This record gives sequence, C-alpha cells and structure tokens, in this order.
Amino acid sequence: MIHAKAYAAPAAAMPLAPFELDRRDLGPEDILVDIAFCGVCHSDLHQVRDEWGGALFPMVPGHEIIGRVAQVGDQVKAFKPGDMAGVGCMVDACRACPSCKEDLEQFCERGAAWTYNGTEMDRATRTHGGYSTRLVVDQRFALHVSPTLDPAAAAPLLCAGITTYSPLRHWNAGPGKQVGVVGLGGLGHMAVKLAAAMGAEVTMLSTSRAKEADARRLGATGFGLTSDAATFKRLAGRFDLIIDTISAPHDYNAYLGMVRRDGAMVLLGVPPTPTPVAATSLIFGRKTLGGSLIGGIRETQEMLDFCAEHKVVSDIELIPVQDVNQAYERMIKGDVRYRFVLDIKTL
Ligand code: NAP
Ligand code: ZN
Ligand code: ZN
Repeated sequence: MIHAKAYAAPAAAMPLAPFELDRRDLGPEDILVDIAFCGVCHSDLHQVRDEWGGALFPMVPGHEIIGRVAQVGDQVKAFKPGDMAGVGCMVDACRACPSCKEDLEQFCERGAAWTYNGTEMDRATRTHGGYSTRLVVDQRFALHVSPTLDPAAAAPLLCAGITTYSPLRHWNAGPGKQVGVVGLGGLGHMAVKLAAAMGAEVTMLSTSRAKEADARRLGATGFGLTSDAATFKRLAGRFDLIIDTISAPHDYNAYLGMVRRDGAMVLLGVPPTPTPVAATSLIFGRKTLGGSLIGGIRETQEMLDFCAEHKVVSDIELIPVQDVNQAYERMIKGDVRYRFVLDIKTL
C-alpha cells in the first residue's frame, strides 16, 4: 500500500479535516502521481454536503488533479517518471460497452468509476480524490498536460475545462455563432474563454454586475444582468447556444426565451432540486434543451492540447488546503474569481 495524506469530509454536515489513506500498490498499467494542485469544483461542495443523495463518507473530494509521475508499472508506455499528468472526474470504466468503445467513458453503461465518492470497477474499493498527496491510476485514465501551461492554473481544465469544451464542440460553437454563458464561476469563465478561442461571439449572463469587466477581459463582447428583467427582453431570440452553469435552482423557461429558432440551451449545472419546463418554451422556435456531462478521455486530451495551443488556462486563487472550508462558503455566495485551487504541498 502507498500512504497518502489528505483532507476529507467525515460526514455530510461536517467541515473537511485532515485524513490519512492508502492507495493501492502499482499494477502493471498503473502510474503513481505526486499531486501538486487540485481545483475546487462546485460538484465537490454538492457532494460533501450530500445534496445529490447517496454520498459515501469519509469523502476525499477533488477531480481537477495535476501532479508529477513518481513511478510507473511494468507495462506503462504512455508516461515516465517526471512527466506532468492530469486526472479528471473518472479513474476507470468498463472499457467494453458501446459508450466506452466510442470514447465516451463518462456514459459507461456499467457506470464509470468516479474519481471520488464512488468505487473502482470492482464496485467495492472506495475511490478518493485529489485533496491528497498521492494517487494511483491506470495510465488510460491519466492525461498529458503540456509543460508550457502553468500547472496550478491548468488543474481546473480537468473538470471545468472539459465540461465546457465538450458541449461547445458538440453544438458547434465557432465563427458566426452567438453563445450565451450563464453564471460566471469556475465552469462559466472557462466557457467564455473556450468559446471565444473557438471564434464564437460570447455574451456573459450573470447576476453580478461587478463581474462585467472580468467577463469582457475573459473574452465576452456582451453582458446581460440576469437580475434585471429588461435583459431577457433585450436579448430575446439572440443565442444559437446557451451554456447554463448555474449551481442552484432557477427558471429555465426565462433563459430559453433568449435562444433563437432552432437553437439550444445546454444544462451543465446540477441544482439539487428539479425545475419545471413548459412545452411552449421549446415548441415556439423549435428549440432544444440538452445536457452534457464532462467529456471522454480522448476529448479531454484534445481539450488540453487545444488549451496548450491557444494558451488557455483558468484564472485561479491558489489557497492552502486548510482554507477549503472557507472557500466553499465563498463559492456559495458566488464570490469566486474564478476557481480556487488547492496547493497540495501545504497538506
Ligand atoms: P461556481 O464556480 O460556484 O459557479 C456557479 C455560478 O453560478 C456562480 O458564480 C454564479 O455566477 C451563478 N449562480 C450561483 N447561484 C446562483 C443562483 N441562485 N442564481 C443565479 N446564478 C447563480 O460553480 P462551478 O464549479 O462552475 O459549477 C457549476 C455547476 O456545474 C455546479 O452545479 C456543478 O456541480 C456543475 N458541474 C457539472 C458538470 C457536468 O459535467 N455537467 C461538471 C462540473 C460541474 P454569477 O455571479 O455570474 O451569477
Ligand atoms: Zn467538477
Ligand atoms: Zn463502459
């Protein structure tokens, strides 16, 4: 066993605290990663507070992981010690079902092995995430991160990056397309940067007037204040694609009014409770309401290579691991600019 220090939530209502755990010994296809940085995703917060139900405790969250490869198994060809490696939301999948064969492991029909708050494919061994010093993972579920990218600022690409890149690609964001991004947090700021890098025209839709200047700096050319009803009238029928990253319940119908004929709104945020959608919000204008879940391993590598080429990383606030509970409180207030990243050497 390989010992690791970590930070864990002991139970749903409890703050995170120091924790010790063992990683498995390296199998022939495994790599050992000495974790340097781990991003703090709103999904970490939903899960440590058990807002989606069925959470497993103690829980070591974290699925925006970057570190150096310390050791490799006998059969590992993709990595060597000293390489920079990234790990995102999955550490394994069945590798045999139609979704896995189409490089869409996030939709594995047997259920992917999530990086934390889940189990390995044996459905018994608990998984623990990146708020820890070391991680053992199969080489197929680790990503190559260009040494030209700042590793702390690249960590959030492993979830916020791929989660926004994948739907932008799937719904063809690019030159001549009007993209609206709802919610300027971790996912939202990556959506703005990536959509702009793809050549789309981006409008930020936010509850925070104070974030307008940042939205423009990140690449948005338009801004709409969503706490003002006039915004929904001014931008009615404007967007080919709306990327919705809001983490709390909100009225999808109002936002669908800003989608143009034959356009789509894609939900990325996972509020804990459902919200009704009126058929008429979709029927008038032949609109599509969709959703998207992270991205497969192949596409995650494509996104990392795209980010290296276009020099895209996250805007981060690097914090000691001990500050994570306060970071969660700030995240709930929308006070994030625009991703907290844990400096794992402080563990
Ligand atoms: P975040 O950094 O906290 O950002 C969320 C943003 O949403 C906030 O900054 C705020 O932006 C806006 N917002 C929050 N509460 C709101 C409310 N009550 N009404 C209106 N706007 C509100 O969160 P994140 O890490 O980007 O994650 C966002 C959501 O995506 C979470 O639910 C997370 O679980 C989910 N997620 C999904 C996937 C996937 O694969 N689909 C992957 C990762 C995360 P403004 O201040 O600009 O309004
Ligand atoms: Zn995430
Ligand atoms: Zn599968």
